[in-house]
Amino acid sequence: MEITVVDRDDAHHYQPGYLFLPFVIYHPRDIVRSRHRFLSDAIDLVLTEIDRVDPAHRAVHLSDGRSLGYDYLVVATGVSPRPDATPGMLGPLWGDRVHEFYSLPGAQALTVAMRRFRGGRMVVHITEMPIKCPVAPLEFALLADDWLRKHGIREKTTLTYVTPLDGAFTKPVASREFATALDDRQIGLETDFTVERIDNDAAELISFDGRRIGFDLLVTVPLNMGADWVARSGMGDELNLVPCDQHTLVSLAYPDVFVLGDAGTLQTSKAGSVAHFAADVFVHNFVAEFRGRTASHRFDGHANCFIESGNGKAMLLDFNYTTEPVTGTFPLPVAGPFKLLQESRINHLGKLAFRWMYWNLLLPGRPIPLIPTEMSESGKRIEKAVTPTAEGHPTPPTPASQPAPRSPAPRLPTSPLPARPVPRPVAAAAVTMPAAGYVDRPGVDSTADPGSVLPDPIIPKF
Ligand SMILES: Cc1cc2nc3c(=O)[nH]c(=O)nc-3n(C[C@H](O)[C@H](O)[C@H](O)COP(=O)(O)OP(=O)(O)OC[C@H]3O[C@@H](n4cnc5c(N)ncnc54)[C@H](O)[C@@H]3O)c2cc1C
Repeated sequence: MEITVVDRDDAHHYQPGYLFLPFVIYHPRDIVRSRHRFLSDAIDLVLTEIDRVDPAHRAVHLSDGRSLGYDYLVVATGVSPRPDATPGMLGPLWGDRVHEFYSLPGAQALTVAMRRFRGGRMVVHITEMPIKCPVAPLEFALLADDWLRKHGIREKTTLTYVTPLDGAFTKPVASREFATALDDRQIGLETDFTVERIDNDAAELISFDGRRIGFDLLVTVPLNMGADWVARSGMGDELNLVPCDQHTLVSLAYPDVFVLGDAGTLQTSKAGSVAHFAADVFVHNFVAEFRGRTASHRFDGHANCFIESGNGKAMLLDFNYTTEPVTGTFPLPVAGPFKLLQESRINHLGKLAFRWMYWNLLLPGRPIPLIPTEMSESGKRIEKAVTPTAEGHPTPPTPASQPAPRSPAPRLPTSPLPARPVPRPVAAAAVTMPAAGYVDRPGVDSTADPGSVLPDPIIPKF
């Protein structure tokens, strides 16, 4: 089997670390490592932009004019913040009083803005769902409250959390707990706010229903969209997300295409933990089927996220398609040591330790102790009452769906893994680029500009 990874550059970002940059808890050097060092020598890495995919001819066309053929394609190009999608967001106030922290340059610019902030109206805002890590803006609001107190300007600041949801979060129990956390800190909560535009002259967010929210510092999460190549290839929905089966991760349109991570339409959070658990299922099924056995694993939508709440504490969420985030302990009943949906010091230490686990266990593909791929109900206090979700639907038995995007991704049917075409013999190489342009050398793209390849990673620490 030949495996080729295509990515636009060699810099892998630990995206959860973006949240910590504005509060000077992490430095950019803590959250960027070279990609090629995490890939086995048996994997080829091509560093260039994907222009488009031609699924009918099983070809990936690269922006430098080369093409790669494939027997199987795994789409994992994620989602990115798109400030250009909201009128006025990229206006004169962008980078001055309007900021985001969903990209490294954005988080760095916000670090400077936070340092300059002397009090006034700070607004934390979500443009539209779904976004990756839907708890990150909430974490930002809680950390900002702590940061403002420590800098002695909390009393001079009004802090408001503005969301298109009808509560602080997408799921009822979590929404209730988070609303309490905001309330305890006198952080205002403005719900059902669908932004129409940003008025740069008045420095106001304006909603479609005519509400106006003024700001001195706006920290927004722009619309999150899948990669543009998806649109150019005609493979996605209006947010450039690739529709896929909820349990097998197979593209609904192309049986030889799998979708992992944020790039797809899984009805659970877009989160690194979800990408990780889904990848476990994919690998097991793919290898089993390749060996002629039954692909028996089904992805359950498992998500697991720490939520920083400031003052050296954090909360924890653990849920899947059918069990919403609830209170209790994790991973062990009673003993925990982590507490679900409750603030604790040990949760915070868990979040900080996670960066070490990310570089040393997750990326090299090693198992994480005590964290199963499938969600366990052990230790969880399940509230069985039928409650409305943030989307307003009744929830027996509490579907753990992401809030719907503008025009919701279709409820996806579940199906067994489709029959695969017989793999071509290795001799009929899938890679169709000219041999001279592509040398089968371990780890690094030999055609890349050496200046674009990062040096060896620094020994990770946390
Ligand atoms: C501020 C913040 C905090 C977060 N906190 C958490 C957290 O605490 N816990 C958690 O589980 N998750 C968290 N996440 C979410 C997590 O980072 C993502 O869900 C995860 O990275 C998704 O992985 P992915 O592989 O699907 O996409 P990505 O990690 O985004 O990777 C996509 C890759 O595709 C490449 N690519 C895209 N388009 C092209 C193209 N045209 N050509 C070539 N390459 C391309 C990109 O360069 C990138 O390497 C957070 C995210 C943010 C922004």
